[in-house]
Amino acid sequence: MNIPFNKPHMTGKELWYIAQAHQEGQLAGDGPFTKKCHVWLEMRTSANKALLTHSCTAALEMAAMLADIGPGDEVIMPSFTFVSTANAFVLRGAIPVFIDIRPDTLNIDEARIEAAITPRTKAIVVVHYAGVGCEMGTIMEIADRHKLFVIEDAAQGLMARYKGRALGSFGQMSTLSFHETKNIISGEGGALLINDLEFVQRAEIIREKGTNRSQFFRGQVDKYTWVEVGSSYLPGEIIAAFLWAQLEDATPITTQRLLLWERYHEAFAELEAQDKVRRPIVPQDCEHNAHMYYLLLPSLDARTKFIAALREKDIQAVFHYVPLHRAPAGQKYGRTAGTMLYTDALSDRLVRLPLWPDLGKQQYAVVEAVFEAARSIESTRAEISSKVK
Ligand SMILES: *Cc1c(COP(=O)(O)O)cnc(C)c1O
Repeated sequence: MNIPFNKPHMTGKELWYIAQAHQEGQLAGDGPFTKKCHVWLEMRTSANKALLTHSCTAALEMAAMLADIGPGDEVIMPSFTFVSTANAFVLRGAIPVFIDIRPDTLNIDEARIEAAITPRTKAIVVVHYAGVGCEMGTIMEIADRHKLFVIEDAAQGLMARYKGRALGSFGQMSTLSFHETKNIISGEGGALLINDLEFVQRAEIIREKGTNRSQFFRGQVDKYTWVEVGSSYLPGEIIAAFLWAQLEDATPITTQRLLLWERYHEAFAELEAQDKVRRPIVPQDCEHNAHMYYLLLPSLDARTKFIAALREKDIQAVFHYVPLHRAPAGQKYGRTAGTMLYTDALSDRLVRLPLWPDLGKQQYAVVEAVFEAARSIESTRAEISSKVK
């Protein structure tokens, strides 16, 4: 029995909605399904405007353009993230300034942001790792004081909350991903959420090849023409039809994931008590969405052996990001501010376990294999516990 790390969950309605789009003969973007998705996202996240994009990467590129990020500007972000978080800004000639993460949530360490601010700093990009919210209260306060943009990379954060508010509702702009590996999917796909009304009109223009097409179709202007720099960031209706089927089931999908997450969490309490692993920490202010279940092992060597032991049982456990400040492009285009102690240490020790809605009873096989693999782990209280604040 092979247990993959991820297996896309279908709600059963995807093909039905795609057939409807096909039947209606409207295949370009911004048709009825796209509009349904926009309204759903706006209701769910309380964003002023949601715009579907081809990917979270595309939405991040739009955010960088909307924030007028230009050559030499600095953008503060964690190093422990996906490449797109940085790439979108490097494309505009900006310099990613990487700072360390918190050892508990693995999110950007808000206490280190201020020391990284220079006269060239334009924006702070936060990443809600594993769907656990960053300390948005402190982060928004710092940004206000220094007049900086906050862009939330909420690729993993749909259906999660911080202090009762949806992730993605704090910064001027936020981005979501519907990539096959996320909780709610459309294969490839994403969205830009705009909380600051000032950016809505330009966002529509940038997304529609730099034209005022959206305003034209609403009858707000009498000509449809090239008004700004832009590109094509809107997905077709087939993607939106698929996504609509998923959004309709966002609550049961999340509930199911949370159930599996809790089951792992309870099972591994014993291993944590033995100092063999450290489990994820979800602060009181955060309601997460069970995007991921990870364990922190005592060392890189322990992790390598752990992954190999699970693979021997046909269970796919995987590590995650190579910190961007250590990646070739990260070194070429970015720089670090402060030490990278936790980013370096924890990225080498993190392993993600299979977690997908239809995992079902296979989860017991994973738990069993984890316990077996953990037998060879030397408990090292210093490594596991001292790294927690
Ligand atoms: C998945 C992910 C992305 C990229 O999303 P795409 O939709 O594949 O472009 C960006 N940032 C983070 C934090 C992600 O997890």
